[in-house]
Amino acid sequence: MAKKVMKFGGTSLGSVERILHAANIIKKEQGQGHQLIVVVSAMAGKTNELIGHSNLISKKFNKRELDVLLASGEQASSALISGALNDIGIKSKSWLNWQIPILTEGEHNNARIVNMNVNDINNYLSQGGVAVIPGFQGISKSGDITSIGRGGSDATAVAIAKIFNTDSCEIYTDVDGVYSSDPNKVPVAKKINKISYEEMLELSSLGAKVMQSSAVQTAMMYDIPLNVKSTFTNRDGTKIFNQENIDYTKTVTGVAYSKDDAKITLIGVEDKPGVAADIFEPLSKNQINVDMVIQNISADGKETDLTFTIKRNDKEQAVSLIKNNTKMKCKNIQMDDKVSKISIVGAGMVATPGVTYKMFRSLAEEKINILAISTSEIKVSVIINENNTMEAVRKLHKTFNLD
Ligand code: ADP
Ligand code: ASP
Ligand code: MG
Repeated sequence: MAKKVMKFGGTSLGSVERILHAANIIKKEQGQGHQLIVVVSAMAGKTNELIGHSNLISKKFNKRELDVLLASGEQASSALISGALNDIGIKSKSWLNWQIPILTEGEHNNARIVNMNVNDINNYLSQGGVAVIPGFQGISKSGDITSIGRGGSDATAVAIAKIFNTDSCEIYTDVDGVYSSDPNKVPVAKKINKISYEEMLELSSLGAKVMQSSAVQTAMMYDIPLNVKSTFTNRDGTKIFNQENIDYTKTVTGVAYSKDDAKITLIGVEDKPGVAADIFEPLSKNQINVDMVIQNISADGKETDLTFTIKRNDKEQAVSLIKNNTKMKCKNIQMDDKVSKISIVGAGMVATPGVTYKMFRSLAEEKINILAISTSEIKVSVIINENNTMEAVRKLHKTFNLD
């Protein structure tokens, strides 16, 4: 007998038929004698629909109320799954976040789970019941409902696996596992059977939304192996774990992309010590994260151009901070948000020289211009024009023998 977390994503619960289907998967697992904690997302599209309603009321909708609103999506799914289980003869009960409680810290709309009370649920499991818990939410110290960031039901599942010390954490989704690129956009992408936490963390942070990046980070920190598999097929999924014997025969494991960034260029910045610090100081004070930075070599020793990227959501604030920055001067500010970030990720890169060159050459063959670059040990990312996104992803997928 094992104690398991089974997390079902939004598409897996996207209709009444799908909810009944998920209930049958749970029934089968329970039939094997396992103790089950089921974590659910809101039905597909629900969270976006609720955000849409709040936006129509106000562009500055109260953040506390937004959390109350968004938490309702997962709460509805919990009751539906639990009701479906009861209907097919399985003892099951749903809990709301404050009934457990799931304690969170941090700001509204972006809190993180810090603890949970395990007693009631453990008692219920030992009486043979299936516990159903809403993902993506919790309650703050002051008693307010909080949500934990988009895709956050993955993080709830991992937190439960840790806090309840379960034997496994299974993520049921609408694809068979983690692929070398988004299988819905790159049909030739291949399923990855095993992947290390490090590679998965890079892929998730760089746009592969199949797993939420903070969930992967927690799993890596506490060494909680994850199994990503399909709700709709019986095929083996992807195991995400501490892979000590990484297969280095493949240089690149996957290609990811995102359209979350914006690029800012400051033209004619004075070229003297301390100027970069002066430019980035107000951004840092306002929690605006700078990702890539490129500074041209000054031709005349007096002025230079500086380009950097930030999250697209921060673009207006960033431009305004730069305009109002009295510590530095520049001739012109250009902002471009029609860009995308394309990344190749692979632990095998460490041992293979020339990967960066191969990536640049292959983009050049497609006449795709690179606007900014950043590298780490196991990834290379480039910023390009948004119109070239899928062309670049497909080309790199092929170049690195992933097709
Ligand atoms: P869920 O609702 O189950 O949490 P998500 O929509 O959050 O599911 O994530 C699954 C989706 O992630 C897939 O439908 C797929 O389009 C997308 N995806 C992006 N990159 C990848 C990848 N490398 N492997 C698998 N799926 C990916
Ligand atoms: N429903 C939330 C979202 O759409 C959380 C999740 O599905 O994981 O972001
Ligand atoms: Mg998800």
